[in-house]
Amino acid sequence: MTDHVSSSKLSPAHLDTHQLDSDKFNDECGVFGVFATPEASTHTVLGLHALQHRGQEAAGIVSHADGQFYSHKSLGHVADNFNTEPVIESLPGDSAIGHVRYSTSGGAGLRNVQPLFADLARGGFAVCHNGNLTNALTLKKQLVNKGAIFQSTSDSEVVIHLIATSTYPSLQDKFIDAMRRVEGAFAFVALSQDCLIGARDPLGVRPLVIGKLPHDGYIFASETCALDIIGADFIRDVEPGEVVTVTKDGMTSVKPFPASSPRPCIFEHVYFSRPDSLTNGTSIYKVRKNIGKELAKECKLDADLVVPVPDSGVPAAIGYAQEAGIPFELGIIRNHYVGRTFIEPSDTIRHLGVKLKHNANRGELEGKIVVLVDDSIVRGTTSVKIVDMVRQAGAKEVHMYIASPPTTNPCFYGVDTPDKDKLLASRMSIDEMAEHIGADSLKFISIDGLYRAVGEGGRNNKIPQYCDACFSGEYPTQLTDNNASDDDKQFSLLTDSH
Ligand code: AMP
Repeated sequence: MTDHVSSSKLSPAHLDTHQLDSDKFNDECGVFGVFATPEASTHTVLGLHALQHRGQEAAGIVSHADGQFYSHKSLGHVADNFNTEPVIESLPGDSAIGHVRYSTSGGAGLRNVQPLFADLARGGFAVCHNGNLTNALTLKKQLVNKGAIFQSTSDSEVVIHLIATSTYPSLQDKFIDAMRRVEGAFAFVALSQDCLIGARDPLGVRPLVIGKLPHDGYIFASETCALDIIGADFIRDVEPGEVVTVTKDGMTSVKPFPASSPRPCIFEHVYFSRPDSLTNGTSIYKVRKNIGKELAKECKLDADLVVPVPDSGVPAAIGYAQEAGIPFELGIIRNHYVGRTFIEPSDTIRHLGVKLKHNANRGELEGKIVVLVDDSIVRGTTSVKIVDMVRQAGAKEVHMYIASPPTTNPCFYGVDTPDKDKLLASRMSIDEMAEHIGADSLKFISIDGLYRAVGEGGRNNKIPQYCDACFSGEYPTQLTDNNASDDDKQFSLLTDSH
C-alpha cells in the first residue's frame, strides 16, 4: 500500500487512516453501481471513466463476491489508477459500486475517498454519495455525543452511522430510515451482499439514472454517458425522492419522503453534466445550444466572430452564432492534457492553469470584433486571462457573453463554489465586473432566459422549477448546519481537523 493507493479485502478496520488531514466538507462527485453482471468492476471502471469530469481528485470501487467485499481507492484519475489487470483482479464479483470525487482543498486524504464501507449487524454495506448534506455536522455532533467514532471528515459518513444505529430490521429499511434523517442534496448508490440501492433526495437536486445491460444487470449512474460507455440502455431517471432497490428478483421502488415539487440543479445544465448526457430524457448539449440562442435573443451585437471559451462554452457559443447569424470560429485552442483550472488549489497556480490550458488562435482573431461565450463566471480568474489573451492576439473589441446569470451565491448542495465573498458577481456590479475582466462589454443571460432554454416557459417565482440558488440565493431546503450555534460550528471545526 502506498500513500495514494489502497487496495484491500475489507475487514472491520476498512477505513484508510493515512493522511489524516483536514478536508473540505462538501464535494462534487460522480456515482456508479452495477448488479448481477460478470466483470462488475470492469464495468465500474469504465463508468467512472465516463464520469471523470464530475471529480478528478480521487476514485474508489467496492465490489462484492460470495459474501466478501473488496476495495480499491486511489488519488488521481480513473484511467491512471484502475486500468490494470492486478487492480481489476483485486475487485472480483458480479456487483460493484464506484465513486469519483472532486474537492478543491489541497489535503484530501484517502480516508475521505468513497465508497465508504462498514460491517453492520446485517452484513457489509458500501455507500457512495454525490451531493452535500446540509445537516451533516448537526447529525455528526449528535452521533459523536452518543459515542460514534468517525473515521473521515466526509459528510457522507453520517449515513453509515445512521444506518448502524437504526432500529429497523432490514438493511434496506435502515438505509431508508437514514435517508429520512438527512437534509440537503443526495444521489446515493449503496451495495450490500444481496442488493444494490439507488436513492435521490426528495427534491432531486442531484441527478441519478437507471440503466440496464442487454442480458441482465441493472446500473445506477450520475449521468447517461456512463451507460453509453458500457453499452447499457437508459431506462429512466431515478425520480426525486425515490429509493430503488435491485436484487436477484428484479427492481423495486419506494418513495419514503413527503411529496414535494422537484428542484433539480440547473447548474447541471449550465456546466456540470457532460453535453452527451440526457437529463429527464433531454440532451444537455441541446439545452446548452438553446441557452446560447436565448442569450443571442437577449443580447445582440454586431460582431465579426463568435468564439467559445473551450470546452465548457462551446455548445452555447454554437447556439449564439446560429441565432445571431455570426460566424463561429475556434479562436481559442484548448490543450487537453491539463485538468480543469479549478483543481489547482492556490490562486497563483490557478492563474497559471488557465495559461497552460488555453492559447489564442491569432489568425482568426486579428482585427476582429469578438463575442467570447463562456458558461459561467465564478471567481473571474478565467475571464481575466482569456480576455487579455484574445486582446493580445489582436482582436479589435472583446465582448464577454455568459450562458448563465451572475453566480452570486454559493452552492450548499454539492457543486463546488467558493464562499460568497470570492464570487465576482457578489462583490461587483456587472459594469465593475466588465472593467475587472477587461472586456469591452459583459452580458449574462437572464434567469427567465435560462429557464426558457431548459424548456420551462420562464422561472415560476412562487415555485421555481429548478434549484437555482447559485443565481437567486433561494435555497430550497433548510440549511441547518449554516444556522448552527457558534458552539456547534466550533465542534465541527475541531472534528473536521483530525
Ligand atoms: P472562474 O475562473 O473562477 O470565473 O471560473 C469560471 C470557469 O470555471 C467557468 O468558465 C467554468 O467553465 C468553470 N466552472 C464553473 N463552475 C465550476 C465548478 N463548480 N467547478 C469547476 N469548474 C467550474
